[in-house]
Amino acid sequence: MIIISACLAGFNTRYNGENSCNAVFEDLIRIKKAVPFCPEQAGGLPTPRMPAEIIGEDGFAVIKGKAVVLTKDGKNVTEYFIRGAKEMLKLAELIGADTAILKSKSPSCGCRFIYNGKFDGTLKEGMGVTAALLATYGLKVIDSDEYLLYGLYQK
Ligand code: SF4
Repeated sequence: MIIISACLAGFNTRYNGENSCNAVFEDLIRIKKAVPFCPEQAGGLPTPRMPAEIIGEDGFAVIKGKAVVLTKDGKNVTEYFIRGAKEMLKLAELIGADTAILKSKSPSCGCRFIYNGKFDGTLKEGMGVTAALLATYGLKVIDSDEYLLYGLYQK
């Protein structure tokens, strides 16, 4: 079973109240291979919401208490991100998911790249908070852009 970022399947969960829908991901749910979830909403954040970035290394550092997540206007939303990541992990365990397909570049869901914490549009290598937690607990985490290129058999 696969757990997947809700915005990839057309749910309007993104910070701007929109989605990142692709029919490939909708089909995974339609054929009952994937279940959608949005950790930022589940963590208690509203939609729409202020964009946020990890200040510090990456999602692993956030989990360890060595980095924080701040909104563009400076509010510390770290606890919401961690809570949402734990909620997604709980659902992944309940449905027996061994794989997560997660929206690229998100401070929660990014698997390969995240923004650098300066809100200037620059990416750096690293995982978001939810991706890092799911990977820590043994799930295979796949970046949504890479899935579209390589499917489950990415490098
Ligand atoms: S937290 Fe993840 S699932 Fe929710 S909107 Fe952002 S990228 Fe999509």
